[in-house]
Amino acid sequence: DQPHDAKTFARAYLSSYDQPLRQKASVEDALRRALADDAFYLVFMPLYDARRNRVVGAEALLRSSSEVLSRLSPEVYIPVAEKANLIQEIDMMVLKKALAALKQISVPDDFVLSINISAQELLDSDFAQRIAASLQVAGVSATSICLEVTETYFVHMDQAKVEVLEQLRAMGCLVSLDDFGTGYTSFAHLQRLSVDEIKIDRSFVNRLDDPKARVVVESMVHIAQALQYKLVAEGVETLEQIEYLRTLGCNYFQGYLISKPTTLEEAVASTLPESDCLYL
Ligand code: C2E
Ligand code: MG
Ligand code: MG
Ligand code: MG
Repeated sequence: DQPHDAKTFARAYLSSYDQPLRQKASVEDALRRALADDAFYLVFMPLYDARRNRVVGAEALLRSSSEVLSRLSPEVYIPVAEKANLIQEIDMMVLKKALAALKQISVPDDFVLSINISAQELLDSDFAQRIAASLQVAGVSATSICLEVTETYFVHMDQAKVEVLEQLRAMGCLVSLDDFGTGYTSFAHLQRLSVDEIKIDRSFVNRLDDPKARVVVESMVHIAQALQYKLVAEGVETLEQIEYLRTLGCNYFQGYLISKPTTLEEAVASTLPESDCLYL
């Protein structure tokens, strides 16, 4: 269970310091060095469509070979990068690497590559333009990518951010609201948001044996269906979770059950274990 270990390690690592400023500075230094040394690479997790019974996309996740960063989850160092004004450089580097990886393999026409972006990017009115330029350089169609924005950062969902999302969608990119349920997306925001997809956070998926968690997930599924958003459940680790979510009407899955983060080629080739169990 690598990311979990990484997270546990990260907590221990960060709390082992008495001087928070110094510790943040060391992560920031590591980020700068890793950018300069090109010490970042991507791993991929497949997106599985239970109705078509095949992989229909993959999500790129950031990793680093740097001594400090290799032991931390991006969940820990991305916020540091945001504060240090390094996030734009990181996101563009990720996009470039992800598009290059996509060009190297053959995928079905409807295959969608998902990339995580910082919500901070939405404050930049040139963001959609930067994405368009990267797509053009790489020779990839906008309709082949999905940009994931974490819900936690939608606190101030102002008109400018809505407009950037709309520009991206007008170009043909898909937009996904990541970690749904963990943040501040009020019902008022939900009806105004320009997204195509929402991803139920894995903290809900791994609590499905709790009746209260089930009620919450059920209502998320209903909202997504009513608003006609594509719904993805992340962090799926058992067939039972898939079976239950399918009965609710959620058909897209990501998680260790399908594949741990790996190369794009392996992610695309992954299958569900004992997939015949799914024919209920
Ligand atoms: P996320 O986008 O929600 O990504 C899912 C995270 O959950 C990943 O952790 C993934 O490895 C983990 N995960 C997925 N399925 C399972 C499962 O079945 N079990 C368990 N235990 N874990 C699972 P990771 O790679 O540590 O990424 C953490 C977060 O860091 C991401 O959450 C995303 O918000 C951010 N992030 C990752 N890569 C990038 C990037 O390239 N750019 C930006 N801006 N953020 C990134
Ligand atoms: Mg994501
Ligand atoms: Mg997520
Ligand atoms: Mg997350």
